[in-house]
Amino acid sequence: MSQPGIPASGGSSTGLQAQNGAASASGSPYTNGPVQNALMSSQVSVSQGYNSQLPGSYPHLIPAKTLNPVSGQSNSGGSQTVSPLSNYQGPGQALYGPPVASHPVTPSLRSGPSPQMPLPTSQNPAATPMPSGSFLPGASVSSPSNWQYNYLSQTNHCPRASSQPTMTGNTNLMSPQYVSSGDSSLQNNIIKSGIISNTNNGSMVVHNNYDEIEGGGFLATSQPTTKNPTMSRSVGYSYPSLPPGYQNTAPPSTTGAGLPPSSLNYPSGPQAFTQTPLGANHLTSSMSGLSLHPEGLRVINLLQERNMLPSTPLQPPVPNLHEDIQKLNCNPELFRCTLTSIPQTQALLNKAKLPLGLLLHPFKDLVQLPVVTSSTIVRCRSCRTYINPFVSFLDQRRWKCNLCYRVNDVPEEFMYNPLTRVYGEPHRRPEVQNATIEFMAPSEYMLRPPQPPVYLFVFDVSHNAIETGYLNSVCQSLLDNLDLLPGNTRTKIGFITFDSTIHFYSLQEGLSQPQMLIVSDIEDVFIPMPENLLVNLNESKELVQDLLKTLPQMFTKTLETQSALGPALQAAFKLMSPTGGRMSVFQTQLPTLGVGALKPREEPNQRSSAKEIHLTPSTDFYKKLALDCSGQQVAVDLFLLSGQYSDLASLGCISRYSAGSVYYYPSYHHQHNPVQVQKLEKELQRYLTRKIGFEAVMRIRCTKGLSIHTFHGNFFVRSTDLLSLPNVNPDAGYAVQMSVEESLTDTQLVSFQSALLYTSSKGERRIRVHTLCLPVVSTLNEVFLGADVQAISGLLANMAVDRSVTASLSDARDALVNAVIDSLSAYRSSALSNQQPGLMVPFSLRLFPLFVLALLKQKSFQTGTNARLDERIFAMCQVKNQPLVYLMLTTHPSLYRVDNLSDEGAISINDRTIPQPRILQLSVEKLSRDGAFLMDAGSVLMLWVGRNCGQNFLSQVLGVENYALIPQTMTDLPELDTPESARTIAFISWLREQRPFYPILYVIRDESPMKANFLQNMVEDRTESALSYYEFLLHIQQQVNK
Ligand SMILES: [Zn+2]
Repeated sequence: MSQPGIPASGGSSTGLQAQNGAASASGSPYTNGPVQNALMSSQVSVSQGYNSQLPGSYPHLIPAKTLNPVSGQSNSGGSQTVSPLSNYQGPGQALYGPPVASHPVTPSLRSGPSPQMPLPTSQNPAATPMPSGSFLPGASVSSPSNWQYNYLSQTNHCPRASSQPTMTGNTNLMSPQYVSSGDSSLQNNIIKSGIISNTNNGSMVVHNNYDEIEGGGFLATSQPTTKNPTMSRSVGYSYPSLPPGYQNTAPPSTTGAGLPPSSLNYPSGPQAFTQTPLGANHLTSSMSGLSLHPEGLRVINLLQERNMLPSTPLQPPVPNLHEDIQKLNCNPELFRCTLTSIPQTQALLNKAKLPLGLLLHPFKDLVQLPVVTSSTIVRCRSCRTYINPFVSFLDQRRWKCNLCYRVNDVPEEFMYNPLTRVYGEPHRRPEVQNATIEFMAPSEYMLRPPQPPVYLFVFDVSHNAIETGYLNSVCQSLLDNLDLLPGNTRTKIGFITFDSTIHFYSLQEGLSQPQMLIVSDIEDVFIPMPENLLVNLNESKELVQDLLKTLPQMFTKTLETQSALGPALQAAFKLMSPTGGRMSVFQTQLPTLGVGALKPREEPNQRSSAKEIHLTPSTDFYKKLALDCSGQQVAVDLFLLSGQYSDLASLGCISRYSAGSVYYYPSYHHQHNPVQVQKLEKELQRYLTRKIGFEAVMRIRCTKGLSIHTFHGNFFVRSTDLLSLPNVNPDAGYAVQMSVEESLTDTQLVSFQSALLYTSSKGERRIRVHTLCLPVVSTLNEVFLGADVQAISGLLANMAVDRSVTASLSDARDALVNAVIDSLSAYRSSALSNQQPGLMVPFSLRLFPLFVLALLKQKSFQTGTNARLDERIFAMCQVKNQPLVYLMLTTHPSLYRVDNLSDEGAISINDRTIPQPRILQLSVEKLSRDGAFLMDAGSVLMLWVGRNCGQNFLSQVLGVENYALIPQTMTDLPELDTPESARTIAFISWLREQRPFYPILYVIRDESPMKANFLQNMVEDRTESALSYYEFLLHIQQQVNK
């Protein structure tokens, strides 16, 4: 840790700093630049989407403890003091401040001329890629290029009012229509009465932004809190176990309302209360009787037992919880934590040198999802947590929040269980029986009537675009799926095309054919007859179909090569602003005209370099526009189909900050690249028909004492911790980093809850809630035992993308390696009782070095190759936006031998027998020329057929007489009437069914060009620029044993 102390606001040169300065100068009791910087820092990081903050490196810049005086002292006042800043997002400043560089806020986070920037060996190999040099951190093990996860300080002098960074964001600079009056006291009143209205006073309140609707945090209900916190204890202990009938105004209620939201004296564990036999009494079950599988307790010398890869897909660890609790827990596919045993202090977490964070897939398609329609959504009055399986019922009438420990009343309505039709068993309600649940939201959860589904398509029709032939595919796909677009009778649709000018299409009902309107002034685009451009799909369906049929032919003769993408996006934004919705943009080249025009900046001869590559946007135009879109509930999905450099680093911002997605089809061509054509077609089908949520927000809450500080994914952070998602789709993943802010010693269990409020395509306002419960542990060994190596690797990958962008690629690579070295060193020195030679790892982390090595060889972070810049950027987008399971498959694919599939060990699903071949190590040693091997890399399946592959497989599965007859491009297997064919197809179909998109299958001959892609994934092997797995282990061992 070699960071020199740097004044907190030292490097800031922006609007944010101005605010800091002002606050300090005013002599406000809460001045302290540090406080605001802490806020600023975390927001900045958050708001960057690809956030630029690497907290670990600048602990001194983020003295989060200083938050405490603010929120602790002021119960009512604290929130106001904090809120103006907490609402002021990094990107906002980019909007309202003077024009700034592509990463305007980064400098304020960095402590001047980069004390953290290592000048390690890794800088050199850039020029001369060497096997070792590319990531060896040189002699300095504790090189600055690691992540110190301990970015929050340990001491807490004051009670903290919140387990989250800051709360009560009321104003929203980004979306003017929701901007509140600015009178913060008024805002607080609104929050108080508004949110509580559903349980208490029922008064209808106009909400002025989503923060209030979803519910702020602890401060949202803060009231003058002179009451003695110890009262709460007496409440807990002495209240009669079965109070008289439901009284909303009973003393406990008022007492509760007056309690400070948090207090150190407050008994913090569910166990502190003697519970009635009612309800979630299973929570009192002690942690005894827990047992780990003996295998999990093994210590492994990786140098001796290198092959630890299980032969079946790696399962996430099961939290060490009593089975009664665990069986209610959230599915790890939706919500998981890097550490399934939470260290009770930050000091303990620091010792483990492992990152603490959550990985979410909140809107995943679910087969079973309980949906509750009830006029009362029961939530904690203090922290707004939704009632969940891990709360405790003190008696029939009161439940205690598992996040802030506030005692709440059980509303009358909740006493009735609609499932069993029994009165008096609130603990059996579906809300308390399901960790994943969806609520139909009443009107309090709406800012405006739910928006209609709105789909706008923006097509590049320049010469280049028409040449690729993509417009045919896309229009055909739209025609095929038009009736499957999620929506209702209110669905609206519209189209814009552009080259050097912008073309609108009037689809007004009653027209005999679509009318094209050309706007050639791209400097100041105006929208001709806006009411006829976005039309009701049902009413104008024939016109829409007409247009889709004629569009591909309309531009076949075009000679226009220019691309005015920026102005077209501006026009599209204007058109959608009144409603919000989804904008799908298809672009095939570097934009050349008007705002947002870009210049080529890729230098092919620097591709192999780990530095000096352009990972940051060259203009902030796309980011600013994305923020405008976000404010108007518009998400932008970008389909980039380009054979040439198109500066995805800049273009991608349009999706990143508006909660959209990026799709990339390098070298798309309708004739020359049939595989890409098929890929686009399959992906469009999924894209057009999958579930969609509009005008969404997501908040993640955690038990008091834990703190969320950095978010990863595509979104904009509206107010500190409220993610704005104009669209949410079922294929998007998110990650957050956390720290332990207050000791959890009095707690045995902690919980995490994500709440996603959205408008369905049917116009319903819904809230999807996931709650995860984990044990708290006090020893380093337990922390290691519960480590989830996939989640850890996934979170590190997200952090490494940020590091690549804010520092350099080589810095990110060093940090990845150091993450392994640091944690295994910590394990060796502090958790391992008898020191042995070798590389000793806990069973839970046996694959950690392998996964990190795989990350280093992943497209995002690899060096010494000719990875194109846009491909690298796209891989980074994927890291940020993919759910963990796909990220891991992309990073470390599964390899199977498939020329000898048998029914041994096969599973049976719906009368289909599905073979289960073993997963093999990713090494050419595992291949043989007489076999055929399938590699599942998530979005792509590769079937490599060896030159001497048995005749049986060739004829019975591939349907060819001999090896030479395997087609050069073969992307599907023929369905032959042979058991071999049936087995192979069953297995491949089964792999495909497990994901919502359709991975293309490539059949690869020994001499086909795709073979290089296949071999590139052999992460255990040495390449000219990267170590083999064994060499990597030796390197790690050397560093660990130093
Ligand atoms: Zn609570």
